[in-house]
Amino acid sequence: MISLEQPLIFEQGQEGRCGVDLQDVPVHKQRLSGLHREGAIGLPGLSEPQVVRHYTRLSQKNYGIDSVFYPLGSCTMKHNPRLNEKLARLTGLSDLHPLQPTSTVQGALELIDQLAGWLKALTGMSAVAMSPAAGAHGEFCGMAAIKSALAARGEHRTKVLVPESAHGTNPATAAALGFAIEVIPAGVDGRVDLTALTAKLDSSVAAIMLTNPNTCGLFERDIKTIADAVHKVGAYFYCDGANFNAIVGLVRPADLGIDAMHINLHKTFSTPHGGGGPGSGPVVFAASLAPFMPLPMVAHTAQGFRLIEREDDTSHQKPFGRLKAFHGQMGMFIRALAYILSHGADGLWQASGDAVLNANYVLASLRDVMSAPFPGTCMHEALFDDRFLKDTGVTTLDIAKALIDRGYHPMTMYFPLVVHGAFLIEPTESETRQTLDGFIATLRELATKAKQGEVDFFHQSPRLTPRRRIDETRAARQPVLRWKSTRA
Ligand SMILES: *Cc1c(COP(=O)(O)O)cnc(C)c1O
Repeated sequence: MISLEQPLIFEQGQEGRCGVDLQDVPVHKQRLSGLHREGAIGLPGLSEPQVVRHYTRLSQKNYGIDSVFYPLGSCTMKHNPRLNEKLARLTGLSDLHPLQPTSTVQGALELIDQLAGWLKALTGMSAVAMSPAAGAHGEFCGMAAIKSALAARGEHRTKVLVPESAHGTNPATAAALGFAIEVIPAGVDGRVDLTALTAKLDSSVAAIMLTNPNTCGLFERDIKTIADAVHKVGAYFYCDGANFNAIVGLVRPADLGIDAMHINLHKTFSTPHGGGGPGSGPVVFAASLAPFMPLPMVAHTAQGFRLIEREDDTSHQKPFGRLKAFHGQMGMFIRALAYILSHGADGLWQASGDAVLNANYVLASLRDVMSAPFPGTCMHEALFDDRFLKDTGVTTLDIAKALIDRGYHPMTMYFPLVVHGAFLIEPTESETRQTLDGFIATLRELATKAKQGEVDFFHQSPRLTPRRRIDETRAARQPVLRWKSTRA
């Protein structure tokens, strides 16, 4: 892929150059009370081919799953089937307005209801709130429902337990809702330390927020014991379901004693994500929390589908409020349902099995040259630490930079925090064995180079990108966000 250095569009522009042949503008009497522009408008003068090339090249700078392998751990960068895209673009769905009368959007409401049905079936849970717009938003939704349930019981509990391997959104969510966070350490096997957890459980604990499989790519073996212990002190069990892709069709979260869990449709059910969205994070609830779900809800009645939008419209519900304008990310719902229906139950089961198999293939193929912190097999992602780089002068970041020159998006680095210099690799089920073998061979070669002391090679990587090693700390601390003309 040739990556040409290209001047900014303002640097290419020349005054007076234009891609279209416009007629002279007739002179009108000013009616703007002196507010009319007097200086130049500042748009770059460009020919049409210049514009086409500029935007085409910009579009090619996007490093995405459609062009390359993207093993970013914790993100589930799987293939987005084109069938989903085709259906999301059907004009009957894409042209809807959220304020249309419900009698004119019965099909859309039925689609939301059908997807909700699948999410309940796959998780075994009683109810689902469809409106949250992302995983973190779902966490907020689930924890707000827990807070309301506690208030309804007349209890004011102040603490939320969060394992140290958790995604940063978990403690952030708890803090945003006014809870104090108690960190639970990980055991030597990468799972929650059960003794440390039980020692922290008392009547001041509102909930635990646990990820399963966890961010080390491991199934929390003691999850049912944890659920029982949490319930015994009257607290709730919130599960971060962002890693649901590893267990779809294999494990039903309801059977694990979970009270609320968000599902990242954009990860597990393959809608395009990255670069800030759009995402979708429906939250499934156990019967105990269902009455506190936020509005709106779709109800299936004898007269058809109906939207419940107001609190006084629900006789037995005590919704904690509303999270979002309108009803959720409709485009994501269409894609997720298309994904589910085109896979079928057997296909969903196979997809999660293959995701786990691929991650274990990577783990087993690299264990001898890199260092895996935990013994045994993994779930959907393979975790390595940086012990294999000890005394080489090469860091996790250096390996990631060298991968860029080989055409790979680096894995997730330095997360989870429970291991030193983490490499978190999530290949997903959509990669072929060939792709995995190529990636494994590259990492093996880089690990060997590091151990041979080729420090310069690493410190000069990447070599093939338009920008090489940038001062990332300075870029973050002193961001330059405005372009200033260098011309007079
Ligand atoms: C991705 C992720 C989240 C946050 O989801 P967003 O949709 O990015 O808000 C939370 N927890 C875990 C473990 C994740 O991987």
